[in-house]
Amino acid sequence: MHGRVTAYIGLGSNLEDPVAQIHQAVVALGQREGMELGPVSELYRSPPMGPQDQPDFVNAVARVVTALDPLALLDVLQAQEQAQARRRGRHWGPRTLDLDLLLYGNQVLDTERLTVPHPGLHLRAFVLYPLAELAPGVRIPGRGSLQELLAVCPREGVRRLREDTGSGTRPDA
Ligand code: ATP
Ligand code: MG
Ligand code: MG
Repeated sequence: MHGRVTAYIGLGSNLEDPVAQIHQAVVALGQREGMELGPVSELYRSPPMGPQDQPDFVNAVARVVTALDPLALLDVLQAQEQAQARRRGRHWGPRTLDLDLLLYGNQVLDTERLTVPHPGLHLRAFVLYPLAELAPGVRIPGRGSLQELLAVCPREGVRRLREDTGSGTRPDA
């Protein structure tokens, strides 16, 4: 049994009303047994990774405090992806909902199903910028401080949704 651990979840969507998908996921996570939802970052809009023939993503990061162990937390995240009709398609293809476990306390895990910290976290502007709202002083085990990572991570088109002037493709276009 683990104690209560602070974890960070990365949320992403680029299909079927992404903003509503993210809100729905946040509400659902807050209602789960064994989890307490903390603050959620603002919503960000970001260009897709990988295949470019898909809409922009809406991304956010949420903090949870949880008694679930890491794999049980991953089960919850994957169940919610399924609940929101995620279909497995192309690698890094479009999806209604992606929930990634970014950090689980300061633990380092590398199993077949789960790698924590999330292996892309330290390189992704759409994770680092929202995470910085919630945990500016956090250290990423094995990667250094968030501030050091931000300093070398270009924004790459990642913008706060509510400050976005609307040029380019809409997330739900
Ligand atoms: P990426 O992980 O590069 O953001 P993705 O989110 O599109 O890509 P998914 O299809 O959502 O990838 O997940 C593929 C597999 O990754 C899952 O089945 C899961 O077992 C595994 N996985 C490993 N580490 C993690 C993690 N930290 N968070 C979520 N899934 C993880
Ligand atoms: Mg992902
Ligand atoms: Mg994922």
